Amino acid sequence: MKQKDLDYFKELLTQRLNDLLAQADNTVSGMTAPKENFPDPTDRASLEADRNFMLRIRDREHKLIKKIKKALDRIENGTFGICETCGEEISLKRLKARPVTTQCIECKTKEEAQERALGL
Ligand SMILES: [Zn+2]
Repeated sequence: MKQKDLDYFKELLTQRLNDLLAQADNTVSGMTAPKENFPDPTDRASLEADRNFMLRIRDREHKLIKKIKKALDRIENGTFGICETCGEEISLKRLKARPVTTQCIECKTKEEAQERALGL
């Protein structure tokens, strides 16, 4: 991959990582905000639902943050944009749509077909 493309993805991923980290901070402070001690059980239930919802979002954010960090590692060690299954270059179009991807479209499609066949 060309250096200018690597720079582009590095900037894109760094930006996305910063956004996610800022968002994660907001979610955490939202969760610890003092809105406890609802006397009404309906309020308590919806508070509980909010909390589960936020935990699920945080879990997703957490996984994405990990993927982005790995993608940035791959930019550093020169393996970014190379399919980890077949070793071919992943198309720029695919990377632009999904910069954290580690597989080319052919391998990804094959893997998904296999997973479906196995009922995973
Ligand atoms: Zn591949």
